[in-house]
Amino acid sequence: MSMLSVVIPSYNERDNIKETISVLADVLSKADIEYELIFVSDGSDDGTFDVIRDAAAKDGRIKGLEFSRNFGKEAGIFAGLSAAGGDAVIVMDCDLQHPPEVIPEMWKEWQNGAMVVEGIKTDRGKESVLHRLFAGLFYKLMSALIGMDMSASSDFKLLDKRVAEVLLELPERNTFFRALSFWVGFETKKVYYEVADRKHGKSKWSYRGLVSYAIRNATSFSTLPLQAVTYIGTITIILSVILGIQTLARYLSGNAATGFTTVILLILLVGGLLMVSLGIIGHYLARIYEEVKGRPRYIISKTVGDVPEIKFIRR
Ligand code: UDP
Ligand code: MG
Repeated sequence: MSMLSVVIPSYNERDNIKETISVLADVLSKADIEYELIFVSDGSDDGTFDVIRDAAAKDGRIKGLEFSRNFGKEAGIFAGLSAAGGDAVIVMDCDLQHPPEVIPEMWKEWQNGAMVVEGIKTDRGKESVLHRLFAGLFYKLMSALIGMDMSASSDFKLLDKRVAEVLLELPERNTFFRALSFWVGFETKKVYYEVADRKHGKSKWSYRGLVSYAIRNATSFSTLPLQAVTYIGTITIILSVILGIQTLARYLSGNAATGFTTVILLILLVGGLLMVSLGIIGHYLARIYEEVKGRPRYIISKTVGDVPEIKFIRR
């Protein structure tokens, strides 16, 4: 019989673990799916790992990893994937915002031959107007950059074991799980779900965190911003030539503007463009620097349960 691994990145989710386990156990046993749950505590400091350890002591199907510090959700997902022993892996949040009720549906699609089953949000749940606006903008941009519709995608998805292995083989450290599952291709099916409210605690995202997450992912997936620098520069040059011709014509026709304004505006415009462009290049340089250093994506400090031979650090 096939087994399902459920990977659950958890950062300070002490109050959610137990409920998540019981809801998952309920749904999965009703659907007659053999499973293991892999909780990856992302350097939590609220005792999340203790709760996982207690649960694992009672149920052999529960496994846990703890990071030496907070490495971020992406690292948690990849650590979970490399510890998964199932024939298919589902990644889901620990706060029950990804409804476990759709897992049997994903499982069916997989049994029918799908290699990737994407969880697609039908609505975004409770989010502030600003968050919604920002997320909408980000996903429009990402969709354009990647050439795939990302607007309703999420980290909630099922991967065949082979797809998970392919993802683990990718050498880059700045990963964007949500888009990589599109990028690798394979036969993909969609399953729709409504985002539930977070059970306990608060979302881990600050606006600042979200902005840096967005920039990181957009640039980890596309070099278009770099090319955009060239385009914008070209347009600026063309505009300056036009402006130059106009100024010359005015000068020759004898009504030259005393025009200090034009000069200052131009200096400001070009200066601004240069700085933005340098910033974009600098951002890519920073990413290259990080990749070249070759630091591990995460460091595992503790494990609990029957975790296979996984690397404690991952390059
Ligand atoms: N998470 C994580 N590491 C982090 C931040 C979040 O593993 O640094 C986990 C978190 O425990 C949860 C999931 O990622 O299971 C989604 O986080 P959250 O609910 O805070 O985000 P939101 O649902 O608001 O997008
Ligand atoms: Mg959440």
